[in-house]
Amino acid sequence: MAARIIEGAAIAERLRARIAAAVAALDPAHVRPGLAVVLVGDNPASQIYVRSKTRQTLEAGMRSFDHALPATASEEEVLALVHRLNADREVDGILVQLPLPPQIHAQRVIDAIDPQKDVDGFHPVNAGHLMTGARGLVPCTPLGALMLVKSVRQDIAGLDAVVVGRSNIVGKPMAQLLINESCTVTVAHSKSRDLPGLCRRADILVAAVGRPEMIRGDWVKPGAIVIDVGINRVPNPAAGENKTRLVGDVAFAEAVEVAGAITPVPGGVGPMTIACLMRNTVTAACRRRGIAVPEL
Ligand code: NDP
Repeated sequence: MAARIIEGAAIAERLRARIAAAVAALDPAHVRPGLAVVLVGDNPASQIYVRSKTRQTLEAGMRSFDHALPATASEEEVLALVHRLNADREVDGILVQLPLPPQIHAQRVIDAIDPQKDVDGFHPVNAGHLMTGARGLVPCTPLGALMLVKSVRQDIAGLDAVVVGRSNIVGKPMAQLLINESCTVTVAHSKSRDLPGLCRRADILVAAVGRPEMIRGDWVKPGAIVIDVGINRVPNPAAGENKTRLVGDVAFAEAVEVAGAITPVPGGVGPMTIACLMRNTVTAACRRRGIAVPEL
């Protein structure tokens, strides 16, 4: 039987509606959360992401502060801007769009962001909070991915989870979130042996690799929850010359026949990432002011 499709786009839309309601409820307290987005250079994909973030921030009733610096900006200029935003009382969240041009050391910039305003959750203080189970800001993509898992099954304690990929922005925080949910977690990567065998053990399989359709249908345990984080652009000759399409890290057409539930690409994890950025901005705004964080 074909798997249930986890409709990330619709779940993200409902989350955004709850966020907009929470923002409206802050109005009487004269709190209007503000998100500052820093874009350095003119990477077309980054420009699209930033436009989308700005639009969704405004639609949620929040303030958006966009800062564009040229591709030639120095690390000192970017750091100076981050310090200004750290000190700005109107700014609750700071996001520096990655990747940064080669002359700028991304980790030094991330380290300079006030951890309380680090809505991407990449600062070492927030990474540490996630690891120790303390209150912090959690990276948006794994947070959204976990919400999608929980849209299928609320109590996942004791399940076997396999995360393929160990990046700091997706794989590692995803694994940590699943540990915090009392799953038994295996983290696989490019040096792992018998990847198909590891994946077949997973009740929850999260793919965050960046390799188009690498995870085949016969790697999936029947009934598993499959979360495909990958976004890969591949040629699509059927649509015409030079046409492309997006695929995930999972061979969807095969896996959908085996899994219990699966996210599509596009329309799965992707929309949740920006919605969780909005959620983190509301969380940061409330915590900074000592207001109770709304249940989102
Ligand atoms: P990285 O390139 O930083 O990490 C990829 C990970 O996959 C690494 O840990 C790597 O292992 C592992 N890997 C690579 N090849 C293999 C292989 N053959 N077998 C097993 N493991 C392998 O990528 P990200 O984590 O940043 O992103 C992963 C994917 O998620 C990408 O497609 C990206 O576009 C997408 N993405 C989607 C987002 C969304 O909003 N939906 C947000 C962020 C990312 P090793 O460590 O050994 O090199």
